[in-house]
Amino acid sequence: MKKKNPNNRSIISVGQIIGWIVVFVLAVLLFNKPGVKQTTLDYSDFKQKVAEAAVSDLTVSPDTISGLYKNEAGQFVPFKTVRMEDPGLVKELSTAKIKFKAEQDRSWIGNILFNVLWIFLLIGLWWFIFIRPQRSDGKSAMNFARSKAKMQDPSQQTVTFKDVAGCDEAKEELEDIIKFLKNPKKFQKLGGKLPKGVLLYGAPGTGKTLLAKAVAGEAGVSFFSASASEFVEMFVGVGAARVRDLFDQAKNNAPAIIFIDELDAVGRRRFAGIGGGHDEREQTLNQLLIELDGFESKQGIILMASTNRPDVLDPALIRPGRFDRHISVPAPDLKGREEILKVHAKKVKLGSEVDLKQVAKGTPGFVGADLANVINEAAILAARADKDAVTTSDLDEAVERVLAGPQKKSRIISKHEQHVIAAHESGHTIVARLTNHSDPVHKVTIIPRGQALGYTLQLPLEDKFLTSKSELLDKLCILLAGRAAEEIVFGEITSGASDDLNKTMAYARKMVMELGMSDRLGPIALPNGEENEVFLGRDLSRHTTMSDELSRTVDEEILNLIKTSYARAKDIIIKHREGFDKLVATLLEKEVVQANEIDEILGLAPVVKEGQPQPTTPTPVKEEPKAQPAVRPNAQQADLFE
Ligand code: ADP
Ligand code: ZN
Repeated sequence: MKKKNPNNRSIISVGQIIGWIVVFVLAVLLFNKPGVKQTTLDYSDFKQKVAEAAVSDLTVSPDTISGLYKNEAGQFVPFKTVRMEDPGLVKELSTAKIKFKAEQDRSWIGNILFNVLWIFLLIGLWWFIFIRPQRSDGKSAMNFARSKAKMQDPSQQTVTFKDVAGCDEAKEELEDIIKFLKNPKKFQKLGGKLPKGVLLYGAPGTGKTLLAKAVAGEAGVSFFSASASEFVEMFVGVGAARVRDLFDQAKNNAPAIIFIDELDAVGRRRFAGIGGGHDEREQTLNQLLIELDGFESKQGIILMASTNRPDVLDPALIRPGRFDRHISVPAPDLKGREEILKVHAKKVKLGSEVDLKQVAKGTPGFVGADLANVINEAAILAARADKDAVTTSDLDEAVERVLAGPQKKSRIISKHEQHVIAAHESGHTIVARLTNHSDPVHKVTIIPRGQALGYTLQLPLEDKFLTSKSELLDKLCILLAGRAAEEIVFGEITSGASDDLNKTMAYARKMVMELGMSDRLGPIALPNGEENEVFLGRDLSRHTTMSDELSRTVDEEILNLIKTSYARAKDIIIKHREGFDKLVATLLEKEVVQANEIDEILGLAPVVKEGQPQPTTPTPVKEEPKAQPAVRPNAQQADLFE
């Protein structure tokens, strides 16, 4: 998913908002015509004044009498009174020599006409402000219902499969569709049967949008893209209208591809939440289903959509005849990463010594968007240093930037805090180095980066798709080692471990509840309650299926895992206290300590881990205190957490 351009979202411009305010204010003013400030007199008071000859300039109409009367202060001020049946009045007035004139009230027809006139006036004004200026450029501001889909016609189509690296399987699956779009008639004559909709699923940034564009580029057809979240944006009823409009536009430009990003924004299961969920979303989804059923792929339109949560989609959406072809776009493996790096490196000048394979090795879990970012950051760094070409060190720094944000050299940290951070990181490092099922430690630093005050970087030796219980137990131990070290050295703990604790909890939960890694509970998977709140309804109902006793055992097992791991971490540090203290001192002095130095300090031979599954998680594992995770979940973590 990409960040949305905030400007894209405002349908109503500032000018239009001002326009509305003007109309509103005018309406209020007009309907509350402030008449002349008139005192209303009782008829009896009026008669009294007449008797005193304290009124003048009367206007007598069938229903009211108005004019001037003399108030207590002796001034003539306007008044009004309701006329009563009083045949003697005219005579009285004449006797008192009071000037008066008669007037006909407006008839009821006149009244209606008078009010209708105002309404017409307002409509006219509204037309003048909103409709007329828009006519001139052919668009109407009231066109909320127009889809904001971006269209690219074939001539602008520059992305092809060459630009998409490392997802060969997905590309292969899309070949059919390209063939069809190139020549729909021929394809059908040969009896080809096509899916209507293709669902691309995979983590954000794996290149789903890019792939869809490349399909359009390869086939030379128009490409319509819209983000599903734009459909459900603002006004009720607009989403459905936009969907309709999007399909109409595409039909007029067939053959074409319609691409809907973030399909889960509208496509979530219906009736999921308490109270039936989001009406607007549901209407939009229904409209989408109607459109899906209403067009034939014969018309030369292929619908593509992307999501990173295929599991939450409404089953109706992925039934045959709708989004019936599902293509996984996974995070790239080593070879894929190298290819992606190559694609993006074409745009920059690389030094001759740069080995992209090496960069690919150091970036497990990175997706296409991250790798594009690495190249970009490296180019910026090289340019900033006035270099002719991007060097290996630029790339190394860029990788870390993408992992953890830029170094913060300016952040001032007191001596004592540095000591705490060094101890904390040394705890992570030493336990990571001394546990058997963990990734090799690459380096440890107390230079702040991004939100982290310091971190230990572990890099796996290779990509891996399974994680063992021993590896997860070691991971818990490493995560808790920072806090354990603080406790051992200072007898006190800081807020710095909060992120570690969150992660520990997440891993422990996952192990007990989903991976069946608790001995007491055995191989069971339980609802984890981590679903999106949209699913509150579903979750609640699922939770009720778990007995009190079971949930108590689950809690105990999670606690147990964490407590044991913490004790183990403390043990390891205490046992190697001497090496640990040396590492802390070196860190304080040099700020960064590399793998080989760590081994030297601890008096260990360099790691050669054989005969055991190599752990994968390319964890920039242990960061220091931070407001939110600075490190994007990599493929492996994503596998575990999401
Ligand atoms: P998604 O739609 O899956 O979130 P995008 O297609 O928007 O991801 O990818 C964002 C950017 O990342 C692309 O514009 C491209 O520069 C880069 N990228 C992602 N995957 C690849 C890939 N397989 N090959 C080359 N570049 C990629
Ligand atoms: Zn930590």
